[in-house]
This record gives sequence, structure tokens and C-alpha cells, in this order.
Amino acid sequence: MLLEGKRGLVLGVANKRSIAWGVAKAVAREGARLAITYQGERLEQTVRKLTGPMEEVLVAECDVSDDASLDGLFDRIGDEFGGLDFVVHAVAFARKEELEGQFVDTTRAGFATALDISTYSLAAVARRAAPMMEQSGGSIVTMSYLGGQRVVPHYNVMGVAKAALESSVRYLAADLGPRGIRVNAVSAGPIRTLAASGVSDLPKMLDVFKDRAPLRRNVTTDEVGDVALFLVSDLSRAVTGEVMFVDGGFHVLGI
Ligand code: NAD
Repeated sequence: MLLEGKRGLVLGVANKRSIAWGVAKAVAREGARLAITYQGERLEQTVRKLTGPMEEVLVAECDVSDDASLDGLFDRIGDEFGGLDFVVHAVAFARKEELEGQFVDTTRAGFATALDISTYSLAAVARRAAPMMEQSGGSIVTMSYLGGQRVVPHYNVMGVAKAALESSVRYLAADLGPRGIRVNAVSAGPIRTLAASGVSDLPKMLDVFKDRAPLRRNVTTDEVGDVALFLVSDLSRAVTGEVMFVDGGFHVLGI
């Protein structure tokens, strides 16, 4: 098993369609002991039901926009796990109205919220995780989307947040590499999840990817999970600062 004896944190399970859940299943299958977070009490039951069959799992509430909530989470992981080997950050948020019209109409408050929850939270998490990883090194993985590198209609402020997220990956990789900690992103093709349903035109995006991607199909959360598994495992021990696409090859197209 690739992750035997490893302890990991997966942030961002909302339901069984979440990318975080695809990742959690993959890393648990390979023997990792997991802490899994959800945001808000109304998701607790769903997440506890999903994780029920997992052994030794720590299920906790965490709001990444709240420093006290992050501190509480990492204190608990420190107490219960005594250290951490990997983190998967699969969290993002933008107000629905920012994902409907044009980027030019983004409000100051909407911009701040999207960048705080979707981008700054990676640095906030990495800062707390790093001291727990230093002894034997670690791996941090976040989730991006092509809209951070190209213009995708209606992705708007979330595209700007993903551009900043991918840049954060490079800065964090440079900061934490000397401490033996790697930082990478997976850039997934569109998948029908709760967060993605906030982007108007999602059905059209799914069709465009399916029709044009070299593999001529959409991707699944399990496929994203397997690549995240690779990035948190020792198989990728020389890879850091990278954005790895899991999109059936869509991103290589010129037209
Ligand atoms: P999802 O709705 O299942 O997951 C998003 C998660 O973010 C939810 O669990 C939600 O509770 C959490 N979240 C939002 N605000 C939070 C906060 N303040 N504190 C803590 N958690 C918070 O949707 P998903 O598509 O699985 O999204 C996971 C990640 O994958 C996101 O970063 C998203 O941008 C990225 N992504 C999604 C797609 C796609 O098409 N679905 C494609 C590429 C990248």
C-alpha cells in the first residue's frame, strides 16, 4: 500500500460528489489514516455517514476563513495523530452572483471573499501543517481549474482566485521545499459538484470538454483522487511547484 503508516488531512468534503471525497477514498484505499473536514453543521451528518466505514478517521468541522477554526483543527490533529504527512486542500467559494455575469462587475466584497476562502486558505493551512511535517517531510496538494490560466465564460473571480492559487503553489513550494515539504496542484476538468453548480453554463462546459478533449470524455472525482494520491505518495517525491492537469488533455488544445 502506497500510504501505509501515513497520516493525512483532506479538507472540503460536502457530499459523495465532492472531489475531496474522491481523494479521501483513494488515499484511504492505500492505507492512509485520515482527518476529514466539512464546513457547517448541516453537512456533518452526510460526512459522518460517508466516512462511517473508514477506520480510525477523525471527522471535524473547519471553516478556512476563520483562524480560530483552523487553529482548533490543527491542535486536534496534533493531539490525535502526533504529526502529519500530507494535506489535500479541496475548498473554494465565490458568491453565486459573481459567477453569472462578467468579471468586470465583480464587487470588492465578492473578490475578497473568493480570494480569502479559495486562495489565502492554502497558505493558512500550509503554515499550520508545515511544523507537523518537518520530521519526515510532507506533501500538500490543492485543486485548481483551467479558468485560472485561460478565460472561461462565467468563471470570473474564481479564475482570478485559481491564478493566485497556482502562484501560491509555486511560492509555497519554494518556501517549504528546504523543509522537505512539497506543494502541488491538480487542475481538474469540469465535474458536476455542489461548487461547480454555482457556475452558470456548467452543462455547456461539460459538453465542450467531452466533445473536444483529446480523450473525448469528462473526468471523474475518482480519477482526480488517483492523481492526488500520486502527488501525496513517495512516487512523486521529486515533484513540487507543479500544476498537473487531469482533464482528458483539454488544456493542450489551441482551438
Ligand atoms: P464541493 O462543493 O464538493 O467542494 C467544495 C468544498 O469547499 C465544500 O466542501 C465546501 O463546504 C468547502 N468550503 C467552502 N467554503 C468553505 C470555508 N469557508 N471553509 C471550509 N470549507 C469551505 O465542490 P468540488 O468541485 O469538489 O470543489 C473542490 C475543489 O475542486 C475546489 O477548489 C474547486 O474549485 C476545485 N475544482 C472543481 C472542479 C469542478 O468542476 N467541480 C474543477 C476543477 C477544480
